[in-house]
Amino acid sequence: MGKIDVASNISMSDLQTPCFIFDEAEFARGIDGFRSALKEKFRNVSIGYSVKTNSLPYAIRKAKELGCMAEVVSHDEYQLARICGYAHNEIIYNGPIKSKETFLDAVSGGGIVNMEAKREMEWLKELPNNRKYNIGIRLNINISNISPEDADGEDDNSRFGFSDESGEFAEIVNEIKSLSNIRLAGLHIHRTTHSRSPRFYERSLEYAIQVIKKYHLDLDYIDVGGGYFGIFPNKPTFKDYADAFSVPLLAHGLDNIKVIVEPGNALTASPFAFLTEVIDVKQIDTKTRFVTTDGSRNDIDPFFRKTDYIKEIISRDNNSPTEHIQIVAGCTCLEYDRLFTLYDKPRLNPGDRILYHNVGAYTMTLSPQFIRLWPRVYALGYDGTYKEVRRASRASDILLFDK
Ligand SMILES: *Cc1c(COP(=O)(O)O)cnc(C)c1O
Repeated sequence: MGKIDVASNISMSDLQTPCFIFDEAEFARGIDGFRSALKEKFRNVSIGYSVKTNSLPYAIRKAKELGCMAEVVSHDEYQLARICGYAHNEIIYNGPIKSKETFLDAVSGGGIVNMEAKREMEWLKELPNNRKYNIGIRLNINISNISPEDADGEDDNSRFGFSDESGEFAEIVNEIKSLSNIRLAGLHIHRTTHSRSPRFYERSLEYAIQVIKKYHLDLDYIDVGGGYFGIFPNKPTFKDYADAFSVPLLAHGLDNIKVIVEPGNALTASPFAFLTEVIDVKQIDTKTRFVTTDGSRNDIDPFFRKTDYIKEIISRDNNSPTEHIQIVAGCTCLEYDRLFTLYDKPRLNPGDRILYHNVGAYTMTLSPQFIRLWPRVYALGYDGTYKEVRRASRASDILLFDK
């Protein structure tokens, strides 16, 4: 990053802060890397780009260009994917907040639709009898039961999917079997563990296969969901995940089934950086300086849980004296809008910039419109040039909704 573009002469120092920077080559590297790892093991694979993880329309469209499906979890996201150019059969539709209209549109159009709410059963019954439709079901997974080492406590249950234990999964399967025009075509087993360990996928697939056998299901696909690390040093690789999937699938002769993944974090974290500028510096007591920047924790840490970041400081003055404690803070009036602390580092001054790396997952989609509206986004193209792909929001954007 930071290369000077000769053609348009926009270098990183010309970017207007605060802003996100979307690195297209890095995005492609993740998608291509995951796909090649899966293709080594399976003939039939699909990658669903998890729209909720980063719903920047430019990225959603890029994911399509790179051969992804769109994985959506609400009627709003479904419509966003359609507007961004995804055909019906290029959408994976999950989650409890499907609308009836978009649910029927997706099923009729040949999308991958994984049932999550019981009302969807009633909608299915309204489909005409003169043709066949495919449907999938999400299976409920309790991580403590299938992989205690990856569980968060003794009972890491889930509120998603239909439970085999309670008998509701069997009920749904039987209801689907009773409908002559509906075919159960797939199983969805998404869960994200803190460990993001490949071992968990080996075990959750083994569990899913036991369920497939128990009900004698003949499926087109198994949708393993998301929850993976991206390309990161000393972490599991895409190959490790593909290998983990292949152990149970091969053992049970299911390696011809279509394998779907829905990576969010793995594809979106590393391609996005966030650039902010120091707008003011204050000395509070003899030892502490507060550095105010035009970014906010709301931009890159919406859950307010991070204590540090992968960051670069771009100083204008290379001879700045050392300061003992500098607390780098955001632009809002929240007292706790403090991002990180520098100890015994060169003094920051207005105009200096901070570039935060790896901040594309669950940041932009969770930012509130608090005090300073959404920042602009630049794309860094393959040729090293930057272009603005989303302008900064302004007050008049909020007025659009005013009645
Ligand atoms: C959130 C979500 C994903 C993406 O999860 P990551 O942990 O970001 O990979 C995939 N599938 C479904 C159904 C989700 O809800």
